[in-house]
Amino acid sequence: MRFHILTLFPDMVEQGLNTSIIGRAVEKGILSIEAVNIRDYTLDRHKKVDDYPYGGGAGMVMQAQPIYDAWQAIVTKIGYRPRTVYLTPQGPTFHQGMAKEYAKEEDLILLCGHYEGIDERVLEEIVTDYVSIGDYVLTGGELPAMVMVDAISRMVPGVLSNQESGSTESFEGSLLEYPQYSRPEEWHGKKVPPILLSGDHAKVDAWRREQSILRTKERRPDLLKWAELSEKERKNL
Ligand code: SAM
Repeated sequence: MRFHILTLFPDMVEQGLNTSIIGRAVEKGILSIEAVNIRDYTLDRHKKVDDYPYGGGAGMVMQAQPIYDAWQAIVTKIGYRPRTVYLTPQGPTFHQGMAKEYAKEEDLILLCGHYEGIDERVLEEIVTDYVSIGDYVLTGGELPAMVMVDAISRMVPGVLSNQESGSTESFEGSLLEYPQYSRPEEWHGKKVPPILLSGDHAKVDAWRREQSILRTKERRPDLLKWAELSEKERKNL
């Protein structure tokens, strides 16, 4: 899968994403992450990419021309118009289901805003999806874009070395993951639940399932409405 990130701060995105699991997938050629500097496309001789908002008000607005030309350069290079996401607090909130859907795309363009936002006219021409990462306002779309790239990449086959770790993760079947433990068996007087040391895989699976349901009920009861539960499990909620 190829991510194309339209940004005024390409270093931030490249440095943030070329490490650990995502960096390894890039090295293997499973993913490519290209940060495109919007400023490289401005026709302004002072390399300006923003201007005052019509109608007045605080802050600056990113202008249409450099964004459109940067986007067009990607479209020309890959030969088609891919889904183009504008990261904005005004979109629906990103979730795991969306990550899975986007992971099916061959190319995805992510547009990062800054300052007061972007001239509406270019958004109308190029954006197919508006996505927020939560109900708060950040200074720019770079962190949200990185969040999306990370979550989507994990859903691309071959990115996680152990596919199993993806399938028991929180939100799989709309449940949160069960608690995890590692060595030592006792730490600060707290013991690992004995069932995890029993070697009985069926019992361990049953315990983990129960813990997942309990944890979801405690921490995110809103998810239970969508959870894949047996009739018995639902009755016992
Ligand atoms: N004036 C804009 C508004 O009220 O909708 C907010 C602009 S914000 C200061 C600058 C940029 O940060 C936005 O264009 C967007 O790309 C990004 N951004 C801020 N908060 C975000 C969020 N919660 N999710 C996704 N992107 C966000």
